[in-house]
Amino acid sequence: MTSPLVRFAPSPTGYLHIGNARPALFNWLFARRHGGRFLLRYDDTDLARSKAEYAEAIAEDLGWLGIAPDLVIKQSERLAIYDAAAERLRGAGRLYACYETADELDRRRKRQLARGLPPIYDRAALKLTAEQKAAFEAEGRKPHWRFLLEPGQITWDDLVRGPSHVDCASLSDPVLVREDGSYLYTLPSVVDDIETGVTHVIRGEDHVTNTAVQAQIFVALGASLPAFGHHNLLTTASGEGLSKRLGHLSLRGLRESGVEPLAVAALATLVGTSDAVRPVSSLDELAGLVELAHVSRAPAKFDEHELETLSARTLHHFPFEAVADRLAALGVGGGEAFWLAVRGNLARLDEAALWWQVVQGPAAPVIADVSFAATAADLLPPEPFDATTWKNWTQAVAAATGTKGKALFMPLRQALTGLDHGPELAALLPLIGRDKALKRLAGESA
Ligand code: GLU
Repeated sequence: MTSPLVRFAPSPTGYLHIGNARPALFNWLFARRHGGRFLLRYDDTDLARSKAEYAEAIAEDLGWLGIAPDLVIKQSERLAIYDAAAERLRGAGRLYACYETADELDRRRKRQLARGLPPIYDRAALKLTAEQKAAFEAEGRKPHWRFLLEPGQITWDDLVRGPSHVDCASLSDPVLVREDGSYLYTLPSVVDDIETGVTHVIRGEDHVTNTAVQAQIFVALGASLPAFGHHNLLTTASGEGLSKRLGHLSLRGLRESGVEPLAVAALATLVGTSDAVRPVSSLDELAGLVELAHVSRAPAKFDEHELETLSARTLHHFPFEAVADRLAALGVGGGEAFWLAVRGNLARLDEAALWWQVVQGPAAPVIADVSFAATAADLLPPEPFDATTWKNWTQAVAAATGTKGKALFMPLRQALTGLDHGPELAALLPLIGRDKALKRLAGESA
């Protein structure tokens, strides 16, 4: 395959949620896997609903996921290019002016349905004479513009769904340009895909019909077709579609709740496969696992609980280098030894700060039995401490006090950390150090 160019083309009309992050991820991972590039294209021709703040948020949220676009373009800055393409289609007789109002179209659809006919646009506008058009214009009506579909089947070999087809006889000629001259999504998308050299269009299966229409527009503009792939859509656990209003499933909401972006990326792309619950250590590793041809054709159910579990497991597998910067930003020290000691106890990364506080102190020791603690202090080996110190020490304390199991370990844990649960003390003790350990065994906050 020559180096692919893929694109993610959100409309900046809201925040990304896990469902609409999926095409971003499928495209990004595809580019990674095949040595290609990723274009972020803002489909912002709907000026009333598109907002700069959403565009910024989208870039930021993609960055959080680990996606850094190679190119960024905005459709609102490219209107002249779409005008030229529309003119070409008009010249070729493929874009025709229509004057029906929304009400008229609605009434016509209802009549068709009442007669048991499919509600397909009847192309009445094609029969308008120049005088009739002039009369509409004199009334103050402005035309909207429809693309004249050719009859017949559009077929393609879908990257996800395999051999696919749509019968264009079942479709209305799509409106490409509104009365006010603004563009619906359909034409600018094709023009940009042609102009930027997009090789693979990977998007949700809600776009299958668009693909048939857009394939005809590609051809009408003299371009060859990119490859198309349509992934399944995500639903809630109860089977409903995800909407932009589900704030807590927005990428920002997930970020605030401390979910690992890599877990979001893994679950979003592997959901429904046997790999979905296994943690990955990088997007590159994920790129090796995600194959478009293996994406299920059934809707994928998203389970928030599964995401939490995967997020924790992702943390438990991270090597120190993967989190070093984020730990530093949290003010957590202790290097790799600290990370390896605590990672298995974390549900979210910022909890590392709590354990760092326990290590660094001051920690308020809990001493239930002063003489037990004093004996333990006497037996604490000299420094340097290492991974074997804990075992040697606790064996000596067991022998001296006749305790074992919980009766041995719990008072030591409570004295050293002030808590009755937490990471392995064998790993924490060398981090706490002899000096602080002795003070805590003596009941001092240290
Ligand atoms: N703006 C469209 C959407 O968000 C893009 C679809 C496409 O990838 O072509 O659904």
